[in-house]
Amino acid sequence: MANVTLSKLSKVYSNGFQAVKSIDLDIEDKEFMILVGPSGCGKTTTLRMIAGLEDISEGELSIGGQVMNNVEPKDRNIAMVFQNYALYPHMSVYENMAFGLKINKTPKDEIKDRITKAAKILGIDHLLDHKPKQLSGGQRQRVALGRAIVRQPQVFLMDEPLSNLDAKLRIQMRAELIKLHNDLQTTFVYVTHDQTEAMTMGSRICVMNDGVIQQVADPKTIYNRPANKFVAGFIGSPQMNFNEGVLTGDNRNYSINIKGNKIELKLDEERVKKLEAHSGKTLIVGFRPENIIIKRAGAGIRTKVAMTELLGSDLNVYFNIDDTEYVCKTDASLDIHTGDEVFADFDTSKIHLFDQHTKLSII
Ligand code: ATP
Repeated sequence: MANVTLSKLSKVYSNGFQAVKSIDLDIEDKEFMILVGPSGCGKTTTLRMIAGLEDISEGELSIGGQVMNNVEPKDRNIAMVFQNYALYPHMSVYENMAFGLKINKTPKDEIKDRITKAAKILGIDHLLDHKPKQLSGGQRQRVALGRAIVRQPQVFLMDEPLSNLDAKLRIQMRAELIKLHNDLQTTFVYVTHDQTEAMTMGSRICVMNDGVIQQVADPKTIYNRPANKFVAGFIGSPQMNFNEGVLTGDNRNYSINIKGNKIELKLDEERVKKLEAHSGKTLIVGFRPENIIIKRAGAGIRTKVAMTELLGSDLNVYFNIDDTEYVCKTDASLDIHTGDEVFADFDTSKIHLFDQHTKLSII
């Protein structure tokens, strides 16, 4: 068990490319921290610097209060689980799990004890004498986790460990990893590009883009109060709808004008205050798909349904405002079809506004 602290951590590869740019991150003891972001944003590089598999170009890394920059990976008391878990094919599950401990000269009885406990936690105790090829993908991934658990590390580092599994198994393993984290009471640092994994598993999420941390917060805060347009667009499916709009009005009454459509804003006092400095400016307006209401008649902007997407209990309705495509997430029971004339209304209490230049969130 340990906290992990990254101070002004940077990585410049030998070709001069800077993959990680002076990031600060405090991962608390026993926390389930998710590093999430698009491909190439630097999350794997960050994890590999924590693991000691990649040199740190600048900055300081400490684990459990001890500076680790020049400590060998094997002495960092960490265990890593990768996407490609590479089990030894000629060894049984037991031997695969025992391998690292044997090399460390752990006594035989101790090895047996640790493997028995880990196998039980993971539900693979009946498979200990099987070879990897006799196992399903999920079982193999569990063995890879078991191999990490038996080392009793201070910190688990995981790099997309579920991405080789099919969709159903991934959902199942997601739940099992959350349970495993609760059972082990150990710090987890988990890399994924999948925002659903991030939202469902993390106690906190660190969103990265272009080698820079964009926001670190719990999943609810990330979703409801994104720090900037990037975070707002990256987290959420379907994505948040963006458009430009001009803010007008004063403290009593603000409205936003999107391509000639004036929308009155119904905001609480706290949010109204934040708008004072922005009246008259062109801002980026964001609405989450579930905060748009599609109706056949009544208030709202008149538009035509461009396409619908039925997803079980939800229906995604696509339409355009001027030349910008919008998507609304509504109830599947709504009788709406492609080509229908409808009215799009907005729950303005949930509006997001971003500065056009800095892209930082205003409300
Ligand atoms: P992915 O989800 O695709 O794995 P990532 O966020 O984990 O992406 P990294 O693997 O950390 O991204 O890579 C960050 C950037 O650094 C990428 O642009 C990548 O091309 C670059 N990079 C990675 N390894 C090297 C290397 N050895 N030399 C030069 N550039 C590298």
